[in-house]
Amino acid sequence: MQPVSPVLISDNQEIGNQAFLLKFKRTFTFKPGQIIGITTQKDIAPRLYSICSSPDETYISILYTIKDDGILTPQLAGLKEGDRIHITHPQGKFTFSGEPAWWIATGTGIAPFYSMFRSGQKPLKLIHGGRILTDLYFHQQFNALPDYIKCCSQDSGESIFAGRLTSYLDGLDTLPPNINYYLCGSAEMVVDVRNLLIKKGVEYHQIITEIYF
Ligand SMILES: Cc1cc2nc3c(=O)[nH]c(=O)nc-3n(C[C@H](O)[C@H](O)[C@H](O)COP(=O)(O)OP(=O)(O)OC[C@H]3O[C@@H](n4cnc5c(N)ncnc54)[C@H](O)[C@@H]3O)c2cc1C
Repeated sequence: MQPVSPVLISDNQEIGNQAFLLKFKRTFTFKPGQIIGITTQKDIAPRLYSICSSPDETYISILYTIKDDGILTPQLAGLKEGDRIHITHPQGKFTFSGEPAWWIATGTGIAPFYSMFRSGQKPLKLIHGGRILTDLYFHQQFNALPDYIKCCSQDSGESIFAGRLTSYLDGLDTLPPNINYYLCGSAEMVVDVRNLLIKKGVEYHQIITEIYF
């Protein structure tokens, strides 16, 4: 198991249905898109979480949802300011160098992109999927992007594409050929989107993925 060090929680707010934003004071440097391991007790293996704050902020923020049958997240959800958790060093290569790219995310998979966005990085397009609008965490902030597509499988409205993110992509006649595609979310979402992009002519090396398993 990786070495862990203790930190005290500053905040742990429910920001959506079963979704929480956990905060603690930053004591390390990292790159937007990186992850850390978190656990509540040293005998529970740390689970991995994307950092969703920017590297120059005082507090590290972590967006997580409760897995009812999971071990760690039901415990995390019960923690309050002043409680102790244990974290690993930041790690991971899902970072963005600012080249022309689309960002594609569902669920908590939006977290690394929010860190990039808060750091001043921008995609040509962000495609964000969820069941209903409130599942699109940080959508109000992302509205500042010039091309932000909100896909909701069970919601509709003026600014919403009513359908899954894969339906939105499937409906596009062509995709920009010389850009990168960054994907983050569940294994199912990443595999489905990757297959769709390849079917539409994107090359494998243009697709950069972070899978939450
Ligand atoms: C690179 C990466 C980044 C991630 N970033 C985030 C993030 O930013 N936010 C976020 O919310 N999550 C993120 N995750 C997911 C996170 O690491 C945890 O998996 C998640 O929070 C669930 O943890 P848990 O301890 O509650 O559930 P766990 O106890 O780990 O269980 C998870 C699921 O697996 C099932 N399961 C457990 N053990 C078994 C078994 N032996 N056989 C079959 N099924 C089993 C459980 O029933 C449950 O449904 C990320 C994962 C990766 C790999």
